[in-house]
Amino acid sequence: MTTTATPTARKRCRKTRTKKVNTRPPIVASALAANEIDLAPGREHLVCPECRTWCPITGMNGTPKLVPHHSDRAGTLNPRRCTAGSDRRVIIDIAVDDWRMTLIEARPTTASRRATKVLPKPKATPVPAASQLKPAPLNAETVRQVFRQHQQQCRACKGEITGRDGLPLPCRDGERLAVTFLRLLRQEPRRRAVRDFFAQERRRFDRQYAAAAPTRAAQWDAVLPQVADADTRRAQLPTGDAPKDSPAVPLTTLHPGHSAS
Ligand SMILES: [Zn+2]
Ligand SMILES: [Zn+2]
Repeated sequence: MTTTATPTARKRCRKTRTKKVNTRPPIVASALAANEIDLAPGREHLVCPECRTWCPITGMNGTPKLVPHHSDRAGTLNPRRCTAGSDRRVIIDIAVDDWRMTLIEARPTTASRRATKVLPKPKATPVPAASQLKPAPLNAETVRQVFRQHQQQCRACKGEITGRDGLPLPCRDGERLAVTFLRLLRQEPRRRAVRDFFAQERRRFDRQYAAAAPTRAAQWDAVLPQVADADTRRAQLPTGDAPKDSPAVPLTTLHPGHSAS
């Protein structure tokens, strides 16, 4: 049973051309918040102050007004007509550019007012990539073993899972391991060559250093008389008091085979 007090709802087109005008006072655009009105040309909407739904504004070139619209249950099976807001006149007393400016200026403020949801850090550690399987330098043989282990457990790699076309489905993990194995296998000779080169250069340096040792000893021996002479003279202390605030005079030389004792 329906009473006449219950407004009925009809199917409506979005922008009507009805001449009907609501007798209530008009809605003043400048009285609304910038985010309650959309003045983008051709898309004019506002939030109906009566039912809080976004409603198109019609008659922008003549007498702007809110289109007849449904209220709280809009979009449901039994919507209700918004009697207070339908056909309500709208006074557009702000320019589109001014409205846009206000909206842009208001943006950071609204953003800062919005509570930031802090997401908990995920605790699960990600699955290591094929290149991270071992902390030790990876070699092709290790990867081959991992690949074989995977193949024994993976139905896709064993060819037991087939797609709609009857062909076995590819396995990403298996493919990645195979690619890593082949890459390492290809790189291994080069890596070994680089390692060998380093070792060879190191050995050459050691040999050169050892060969130079007798020369350095001979050079020391050549200066030995002068060094001994200097040491002797340094040992002869001058008469009188030694300066109090100066470092002690070294009495021995740095020569490895000689001391002034
Ligand atoms: Zn309304
Ligand atoms: Zn697999």
